[in-house]
Amino acid sequence: MNRIAIKPTWLITMVSEPLRDHWLVASAGRIEFIGPSLPPSLEIDCHVELPNVAILPGLINTHCHLEFSDLSFPFVADGSFTKWIGDVVSHRCSSTDDPLTSRKRAIQCGVHESYSSGVRYVVDTITAPWSVDWVQEAIDDCSLTSDAAITLTGNVSFMVQACPEVLDIRIDRRDATQSHCREVNRATANRNANRKWSSGRQAISPHAPYTTSLQLVRETVQLLKEVDGIASMHLGESRDEIAWLSDRSGPMLEALKSFRDSHYLENIGTLHDYVRSIVEAPVALVAHGNYFTNEDLELFATHRQTAAIVHCARTFEHFHAHESYPLVERVARGVTHLLGTDSRASNPDLNLWAEVQTVVNSHSIDPEPVIAMITRSPAEFLGLSDLGTLEVGKRSLCTAIEVEGLALLSADQVLNRLVRQDTTAVPLERLL
Ligand SMILES: [Zn+2]
Repeated sequence: MNRIAIKPTWLITMVSEPLRDHWLVASAGRIEFIGPSLPPSLEIDCHVELPNVAILPGLINTHCHLEFSDLSFPFVADGSFTKWIGDVVSHRCSSTDDPLTSRKRAIQCGVHESYSSGVRYVVDTITAPWSVDWVQEAIDDCSLTSDAAITLTGNVSFMVQACPEVLDIRIDRRDATQSHCREVNRATANRNANRKWSSGRQAISPHAPYTTSLQLVRETVQLLKEVDGIASMHLGESRDEIAWLSDRSGPMLEALKSFRDSHYLENIGTLHDYVRSIVEAPVALVAHGNYFTNEDLELFATHRQTAAIVHCARTFEHFHAHESYPLVERVARGVTHLLGTDSRASNPDLNLWAEVQTVVNSHSIDPEPVIAMITRSPAEFLGLSDLGTLEVGKRSLCTAIEVEGLALLSADQVLNRLVRQDTTAVPLERLL
């Protein structure tokens, strides 16, 4: 099959009002045409009408750790972030399975789960062991082989931006993580080796200020400037981190004592020092950012084109059950926000659409800018020029939501309906 034409009830292009009863024509994984009627000049091999379906651009998850995707439940937070970190570390050490087998299984579960919930691109923070082959295998595994699916997705149905983690809480960890990071970036850079799921762009994730010195963050940013790479870092995530950074107090003082060495302790900075350094990266994804000062937020607003906070709404709820993230205020002051799922160590699943539902239902905010946080905005932000919106020439990696009664709605009602709690996002090819 060369060309497929699909007519859902609504096309959510993210560059126009929702379009009612429009055709989307795709060929070899690209959008060739969008319009209310098909031009006779286009030879179409297959026509599909999808009543009560809305088609959106493929969803983009900008913060995740696929390697925890084998967890059945998140670790209980119980008000202590430091205890939660301890549980995550013990989980890693306590497994009796072969570490390669269990890691591979977890990453592959994460790819499957993300794909099944309509995610088409994930920024994945990774640690050793990790392998491009595991990712390739998982993507091959979930790619549908029907003619219609191949016409829509082209040669790849799911993309991964690997962000290898570096840290130097102890100096030997710096050497080991940096060497793994170089290996991963070398392995993913080569797009010719059939790895069409990688943009080939380098990325590094300095872990967090309680494990990573300011010196290592500065060196990492310098390196990323040379290759126009992406930095992804956890910053301002918990009160425990703030206590540690402001006066070396709080639960992290004792809990992480045996892990730290003098090199790290001599090269640590304030939270603002870390913010000042990370926003200098060519692209900076800062996960969480729950506890930023006005001064920190000013820096984000100034760097809004290249530095974003990745809000993980359900992870925020997991740790801050009775608090509200100041999303509306921060967006109003010009801070770019994207959305991520974080990992299954703090979230029950990797359903990115559920992050949108959580945000819209817990803030007074229009659905359009929130949906943009997982489509148009991350694509623009990460330089993914053929993703993020439905436009002619872009990839036809689409996400679909099926809901009864969509035909009864008007263009200004449809997004509000889609973000209600009872909707599920899936890859479009699953509905064909
Ligand atoms: Zn994270």
